Amino acid sequence: MKLIRAARLVPVLSPALNDGGLLMEGDRLLDVGPFSCLLKAHPGAEVEDQGPNSIVLPPLVNAHTHLELTHFPQWSAGLPEPDSFVGWIKTVIEVKRQINPGQLEASLKEGIRQSLELGTGFVGDILSHHPLGQIYHDEPLKGRLFFETLGIDPERTRQSLDHIAGYLNPGHIGPMQTGVSPHSPYTLSQAYLKQVNHTAHSAGWPVSIHLGESIEEVLFTRLVEGPMVEDLYPYVGWENSLPEATGFRPWPYLVKFDGGGKGDLLAHGVQVEPEDVPAMADAGVDVP
Ligand SMILES: [Zn+2]
Repeated sequence: MKLIRAARLVPVLSPALNDGGLLMEGDRLLDVGPFSCLLKAHPGAEVEDQGPNSIVLPPLVNAHTHLELTHFPQWSAGLPEPDSFVGWIKTVIEVKRQINPGQLEASLKEGIRQSLELGTGFVGDILSHHPLGQIYHDEPLKGRLFFETLGIDPERTRQSLDHIAGYLNPGHIGPMQTGVSPHSPYTLSQAYLKQVNHTAHSAGWPVSIHLGESIEEVLFTRLVEGPMVEDLYPYVGWENSLPEATGFRPWPYLVKFDGGGKGDLLAHGVQVEPEDVPAMADAGVDVP
C-alpha cells in the first residue's frame, strides 16, 4: 500500500483538508483523510510526500472541447476580428480552409498536453478531422471523443455517416469512448439530423450537439430567417438548399428530428425558454 501525503487535499465529496492523505493499493483508492490518522492506521504503508506546496484533487472534467483547434488563436491572427456569431463561424471556416492535417495534428497533441498539464483528466472532445482520432490510442486522457458531422447533400452525408460508423467500432479509442457529434441544427439538413440521431440512438452511440447557442440559431430553426440565411448559407454555397421553417425553438426542433436522447450532451444550451427546461430534464439530456 502507498500513502500519498498532500499539503492540501481536495476530495470534492467532503471538505478540503490540510495535510491530507490518500491510501492507495495499485490503482485503487482505499481511503482519504488526515495524513496522521491514515499513517497511524497503516504504519507499514510506503509514504510518498508531494511536498509543502502540493494540492491533490481529482482530475478536472471539460465536457466540451475542440482540442484540434488549440492553435486557433495563432491561425486566426491575421483575419479580421469577427463582430457577430455568424462572423465568428465564418472565421472558423476560413481558418479550416487554410490549415493542413499536419497543423491540426500538432494542435490536437498540444491541446491534450495542455489539458493534462493543467489537471484536466476527462474531456468531451469534438473532432472534425476524423483520422486524428488515432492519436488517443496512446494518450492517458479519458472521456469521450465525438466524431463531428454536418452537411445537407444526401449522398455526401450518407457516406459521411458510414465513414463515422467505421470509426465508432469497437466503441473506444484507447481510454476514450467514441461517439458522434451532429454539429448543430443549422449545419445539418433536417433529414440528416434525423438520420444521425436515429442511427446513434439505435446503435447506442454517445451524442453531442451544439444546441441553443445563439439567437441567430433560434431565428433559423423557427423562421429560417436572419444572418444564418442571409450570410452563412450563401458563404458556404447552401443558399439554394434552405429548409422549411418549423416554428420551433432549438430544443423542440431537435426533438422533432429524433434528437435529445437520454445522456445526449447539448453544448451551450443558452437559448432555451423556461418551458423547455423540464422537458430537457425529463429527456435526460446533459448541458455542460
Ligand atoms: Zn463547440
